[in-house]
Amino acid sequence: PTSSSQSPIPWQFVYDEDLDRVTVEITPLINGLVSSKSVQNRNYTKDGRVIICQWYSSAVFDTAGNLISVLSFAQDITDRQQAEWELRQQKELRETIFNESTDAIFLVDPQTLLIFDCNRRAVELFEVESKTELIGKEGRTFQRHPFTSKEIDEITQQMQQKGFWSAELEYISRQRNSFWANIAAKPVKIANQWINLIRLTDISEQQAALRERKRMEAALRESEERFRRAFDDAAIGMALVALDGRFLQVNIALCEITGYSEAELLGNFFQDITHPDDLEKDLEYIRQVLAGKCRTYQMEKRYIHKSGHLVWGLLSVSVVKDQQGNCLYFVTQIQDISERHKIDRIKDEFISIVSHELRTPLTAIRGSLGILESGVLDNRPEKAQYMLQVAVKNSDRLVRLVNDILDLERLESGKVKLVMGKCQVEDLMQQAIESVQAIAHQAQIKLELTPLVAEIWASSDTIIQALTNLLSNAIKFSPAHSTIWLSAERKNSEPPSQENPNVNLQAIPELPPTSYIVFQVRDQGRGIPAEKLETIFGRFQQVDLSDSRQKGGTGLGLAICKSIVQQHGGKIWVESALGQGSTFYFTLPIKSKEV
Ligand code: ADP
Repeated sequence: PTSSSQSPIPWQFVYDEDLDRVTVEITPLINGLVSSKSVQNRNYTKDGRVIICQWYSSAVFDTAGNLISVLSFAQDITDRQQAEWELRQQKELRETIFNESTDAIFLVDPQTLLIFDCNRRAVELFEVESKTELIGKEGRTFQRHPFTSKEIDEITQQMQQKGFWSAELEYISRQRNSFWANIAAKPVKIANQWINLIRLTDISEQQAALRERKRMEAALRESEERFRRAFDDAAIGMALVALDGRFLQVNIALCEITGYSEAELLGNFFQDITHPDDLEKDLEYIRQVLAGKCRTYQMEKRYIHKSGHLVWGLLSVSVVKDQQGNCLYFVTQIQDISERHKIDRIKDEFISIVSHELRTPLTAIRGSLGILESGVLDNRPEKAQYMLQVAVKNSDRLVRLVNDILDLERLESGKVKLVMGKCQVEDLMQQAIESVQAIAHQAQIKLELTPLVAEIWASSDTIIQALTNLLSNAIKFSPAHSTIWLSAERKNSEPPSQENPNVNLQAIPELPPTSYIVFQVRDQGRGIPAEKLETIFGRFQQVDLSDSRQKGGTGLGLAICKSIVQQHGGKIWVESALGQGSTFYFTLPIKSKEV
């Protein structure tokens, strides 16, 4: 009990923040408007703690109505308040957890299977106005494929055995939207009563993400597969090579180029199959790439084929780096350019031969004209006449050479298509004989023709040219008073006879399995040595170096014949015995369709 004449309230004990409120609440009592008042507020204790007190106060007035004293009883309710607050907090916490859960939660009666409560997420997930739409319903009514009673029995059994049950199910919301959810059910005992606690997690997003991941994995697999196939089936050699030169992956084309199997190449080093003379250059490039001076390089280099021969390759290399810029491995492409190298070499040889062949007559012309121009022969007309003859003879040779080179070039480049047509074999032979008749006569050589009546599909001009070349060669290399025979025979797919032991077996062509005509030019001339039987068909190839000078040949005639015959799908070869004569043969297929 407290009383004071100045102030009936012991304000110094009232907690500062509660002062105003207590003042307001106590005023009606002090003013005599009420006879008693109950106030709850915080107070300071003597030792400085804060306690919560419940005050019951009543005011005492004198007869004149003046306040005499206020009687107050206080009860320390600090502990009770704390307990109440904690209880309230716990309840609020439970409610928050229940309602704010990101999973839908249902409380279900295990007997009737009816929902009797659910949280806010359940309302959201099933797209209903409020939970009253869900309460009193069975959960399975929202399933796309509702459980049968038998299935429910099984689930109940499982729940009893394992203590819980879970599955992934498809549901349909009130707004007819489908979603997938992971459902877990567990029997729990609350206030002595069993209920089923059901949790539903929406896994539509995870499923979409999973589907997306699967799709991306499949796309990746497919792109890897596509790359793998592009790599494996590439027409040029390809390899992934480690930084130290080890083959990590090789394709079929590279195996074919090098002659090694995939197993033989893998784990081995490119250095081992590189020609030693080209290795240093390659390694220097690699050092530059690794030093970051360049990313790619290209070079022509020789590889050593498994069988020992050299293969020219055009190598293109690029380096693959990781995101930090560290070199990982090389991607290399190797193109077999051996054929190109061979052709280049042949071309170079050809050019040097041609230039030499052309220069010889030109020098002779220039020489003789120079002598004439100097005037030293002005008084020696017969010498001057001889010089003129030399000039004329050599210009003729030059013309022949240029013509032959052009003919051959035209034939071999394929720029000019042969004009094909029906030809009478007999006519072709006759015309060839006629064109060489004069020179044969001059050389006192007899030409004998055994004509064949047949029709072929050919370019008549070129066949006559080939026959004329062979006949004029025969005339050139035959003695006077000898005979040259021109004949032709129709054959049906048998290989030509091989009577002459000097015949080069390799030169015998494989004949096509159709009917063909074999032309034959036989002479009684000097013959051709066995080792030259094949080479004389090459450009500028002669048995004797003096042949061109003495016989006026260019060394291109047989090369032209070979080209003509091959363009007709035929073969050409020669059989010869030294000192006894030579027989040149060539075949032309009879194309049954046209003829
Ligand atoms: P050429 O213009 O020199 O005759 P060819 O290509 O026609 O050039 O012939 C090449 C070489 O083949 C001749 O130089 C000659 O050595 C040889 N040859 C060609 N035909 C005969 C033949 N009937 N008898 C002997 N040798 C021949």
